[in-house]
Amino acid sequence: MSVTPAAASTPDSLETPLARAAAVPVPPADSLAGRFPLQPHPRPATDAERAQALTDLHFGRVFTDHMAHARWTREGGWAGHAVVPFGDLTLSPAAAVLHYAQEVFEGIKAYRHADGSIWTFRPRYNAARMNLSARRMAIPELPEEDFIASLVDLVRADAEWVPSGEGESLYLRPYAFASEAFLGVHAASTIDYYVIASPSGAYFTHGLQPISIWVSQDYHRAGRGGTGFAKTGGNYASSLLPQQEADAEGCDQVCFLDDVTEKNLEELGGMNVMVVDADGTVRTPQLTGTILEGNTRSAIIRLLKDSGRRVVEETIPLESLLEDISSGKVREVFACGTAAVVVPLGRLKGRGFDVAIEGSEVTHEIYERLTGIQYGRLEDPYNWMYRLV
Ligand SMILES: *Cc1c(COP(=O)(O)O)cnc(C)c1O
Repeated sequence: MSVTPAAASTPDSLETPLARAAAVPVPPADSLAGRFPLQPHPRPATDAERAQALTDLHFGRVFTDHMAHARWTREGGWAGHAVVPFGDLTLSPAAAVLHYAQEVFEGIKAYRHADGSIWTFRPRYNAARMNLSARRMAIPELPEEDFIASLVDLVRADAEWVPSGEGESLYLRPYAFASEAFLGVHAASTIDYYVIASPSGAYFTHGLQPISIWVSQDYHRAGRGGTGFAKTGGNYASSLLPQQEADAEGCDQVCFLDDVTEKNLEELGGMNVMVVDADGTVRTPQLTGTILEGNTRSAIIRLLKDSGRRVVEETIPLESLLEDISSGKVREVFACGTAAVVVPLGRLKGRGFDVAIEGSEVTHEIYERLTGIQYGRLEDPYNWMYRLV
């Protein structure tokens, strides 16, 4: 299925092409398993080594024994699907990705439930989004069910690496990049797809503690007609210098404004933003093509609407947001994304302003509800969870 990016003309995020693609049921994991046959690691981590690696988890530093792989060539299409030993890649120094950043990636988690079963969250959303990103980056699409099968086969191979502690998960990172050795500028004729897996603890080490935000007024992460809606490394590269600026300003993360008016809130480098008004309304910037359409954002909009809350997708000017925080009309601001789930923003700082935000009640409610569904503590009325093992 071909999915196009949501534009300003589709204000309802529950009805975007991506949201509709995500709603298509996925065949059971047993029927997808085996598409990426296992080539077992000759020397996997011992129980003791793995146990050691699973203590004191941070984010994205430790990796499991295996990785999923497939390669696309112009002549042969996708081939060579396998789960192989995790290890360094051999890449030509001329590989196009190193020069022209033709690359897309995804981020999705595997959660262990109390009965030991392992689940993931709306995998077709990420499958469809990777293809949405891939089209923008002139990368061939991977069939959605192959994407999901790669998660099934990798997590089945490395199931013992899925941690069971509070807030812990196996973070899965699918990505595809131009591996053709060629310095000419064109869409590569060889693309490699991998999935690596990293047992992870909480993304922000201080949990649901509010973070502080530097609002970047000099740099943008995306522009009109660019790649903002695509999950591609270059968007992150362009956010690193402003992130250093944030560090220097004593802030945890950067928030970007739109590049046209330079007035309106867009999102953080890797998380969407929501605002909770004193009257209970939740507002979030509408999808304009420069904002990444988050799976977490979309799930939160659904949960809030179904709990009877008013949710509005609209332009949020920084200036009125600052006024509304000061006057008490805005109670909470939070960021959301797969890695961190939700996190309250406790401070917005930029040139000429520095305001505190006290509230985090709705943020906590959403955290409990969403992680409750993800970890199997609460009912899943939407069939968002997909059993891997
Ligand atoms: C990945 C990402 C998000 C969050 O998306 P989720 O699907 O919720 O993880 C938000 N903004 C940007 C820029 C991202 O790259």
